Amino acid sequence: MKLIFEKSKPGRMGISLPDCDVPEKKIEELIPKNSLRSKLNLPEVSEVEVVRHYTKLSTQNYGVDTGFYPLGSCTMKYNPKVNEEIAKFPGFKSSHPLQDEGLSQGALELMYHLEKILSEITGMDGFTLQPAAGAQGELTGLMMVKACFEQKREKRTKIIVSDSSHGTNPASASLCGYESITIKSNERGTVDLEGLKRALNEDVACIILTNPNTLGLFEEEILEITAIAHKKGALVYCDGANMNAFLGIARPGDMGFDIIHLNLHKTFSTPHGGGGPGSGPVGVKKSLVPFLPKPTIKREKDKYSLDYDKPLSIGKIKAFYGNFGVMVKAYAYLRALGPEGLRGVAENAVLNANYLMKKLKSYYYLPFDRTCMHEFVLSGKKQLEKGVHTNDIAKRLLDYGFHAPTVYFPLIVSEAIMVEPTETEPKEILDEFASAMIEIAQEAKENPEIVKTAPHPTTEGGRTPVGRLDAVAAARKPNLRWKKLDKREI
Ligand SMILES: *Cc1c(COP(=O)(O)O)cnc(C)c1O
Repeated sequence: MKLIFEKSKPGRMGISLPDCDVPEKKIEELIPKNSLRSKLNLPEVSEVEVVRHYTKLSTQNYGVDTGFYPLGSCTMKYNPKVNEEIAKFPGFKSSHPLQDEGLSQGALELMYHLEKILSEITGMDGFTLQPAAGAQGELTGLMMVKACFEQKREKRTKIIVSDSSHGTNPASASLCGYESITIKSNERGTVDLEGLKRALNEDVACIILTNPNTLGLFEEEILEITAIAHKKGALVYCDGANMNAFLGIARPGDMGFDIIHLNLHKTFSTPHGGGGPGSGPVGVKKSLVPFLPKPTIKREKDKYSLDYDKPLSIGKIKAFYGNFGVMVKAYAYLRALGPEGLRGVAENAVLNANYLMKKLKSYYYLPFDRTCMHEFVLSGKKQLEKGVHTNDIAKRLLDYGFHAPTVYFPLIVSEAIMVEPTETEPKEILDEFASAMIEIAQEAKENPEIVKTAPHPTTEGGRTPVGRLDAVAAARKPNLRWKKLDKREI
């Protein structure tokens, strides 16, 4: 595709302004000379060229609005557009965080009720909406853990994480000044209870577990795990990024978890992946409520206010009150679905994942062959015997018009291919994706070269704008300079 600058023709214009009806003046008379730009170097193109250029550009990118996005661990589901519209209502969009409380009653009421709904879904006693992402939620949760033990004058220095955990878990632990201890998963893909018992002592402040874990498997011994942790005085944190799997069916609070973060941008209707705002609310059990970030939202009769009078609070962890637009979308989504609808989300997410897993398991190695939750992890081990790496399979999927699944994560599965179909995909799409995966498995056996050289660009009859990129060079020698771009050196 040509750059818009390459389409430029001197004198061509995209706008037609009416004749000037005030006396004309030279620009130099209005703006001091040293503030004037000498030459703007803007492309000179007509309106239709601009429209076509940007419309074409918008289709160069892949997104959930254009196709299936089976990125495991990310819950890249389709989000109803109506929630975007609601977040754009002037009363929500134009309110200012410094506005007087009396003028912010609607916003505060929405946040208050969102906290209550999230508490109900997760079985927690209090919530903060401040964190801007899951990772910041983890840090917030661990800061509360720390504050809680400090108040009790107990010195605990360690956090236990699982070897299948998201990298943010140990990272949050170290950011909070803890040492993280990794425990291995057992042959069923879940926490090894004996290993956990060995690692657990009075130095441990908290165990962080993802449930269902990042292999897409439910931690069946969770009641026993939380009980033994509590017996040693430790708290248990639920990485709730996978809440999509059991919404309305089971509650982490009832499983004995003391803290949880949710990812509104995964589970509750905010599109993500493009770097837009996220939200990682954190819920806690009663004993931790005093430590929640401040301000909290208080309701007295029908008046809502911000409560800063929280002597034990860990303080503020985000400017103002968090990413409000994301909260509006989550609230609208939750109210539209209701309890039955939410349960349906989880049931269909699990059904879709198991359907795909069954279709693919005789073509790809399935390390943990048991009923999965909302996602499952295959391995490209069989294909590697023919020299085809998981990375090649991911690239070949682009030739079939699909976004690749998550690859090489979780780290404990070699050549991992992590698929999360989500509840929003119809059966036909799952069938098409399965056919593509099965054909690629066939190609890996009979014609591995075509997989190893994927993707094939449009200039070679494929469907991507460019062929395989040198990802290492792209990271090590990024070329961000417009002048070089102009010369088309990339
Ligand atoms: C996405 C994810 C996180 C981190 O959440 P962010 O919002 O990306 O910071 C943590 N744990 C798991 C299991 C996740 O899938």
